[in-house]
Amino acid sequence: MATMVPGPMGNNPHLHNWKCWFCENCYLGFSGILEHWEEGRCVKYGRIKELVFETPEYAWCANKLIDQFPFFCYECRAHYQQISQVYYHVERSASCQHLLHEDHCLGALQKFILDYYHAYGMDSADLM
Ligand SMILES: [Zn+2]
Ligand SMILES: [Zn+2]
Repeated sequence: MATMVPGPMGNNPHLHNWKCWFCENCYLGFSGILEHWEEGRCVKYGRIKELVFETPEYAWCANKLIDQFPFFCYECRAHYQQISQVYYHVERSASCQHLLHEDHCLGALQKFILDYYHAYGMDSADLM
């Protein structure tokens, strides 16, 4: 598990700080650390997008990887270019937040991504 540090928004359980275990910087919410990883400095660029489509629980509610806005919120159907933007939206939306529960698609995807990077590190073998 990533290190969780209590954040400034104490009443929203999804908006605590996450510490990247590759670079030790802190980011607000899972969307924050995901956006950081999408930038490709700590993990291989483009890998996050692929991982989303390898997650059985989430892949069925995404469009094709080649679409301009491949990711959407299963609750309100808002479309986004990056999966971190879906989390950013859901973390701050009372009506969509339940998707983050471990039994739902975004909760399952979060666990999948965290487990992947714990098991395989930063994909350093093909970082170059
Ligand atoms: Zn990092
Ligand atoms: Zn939504």
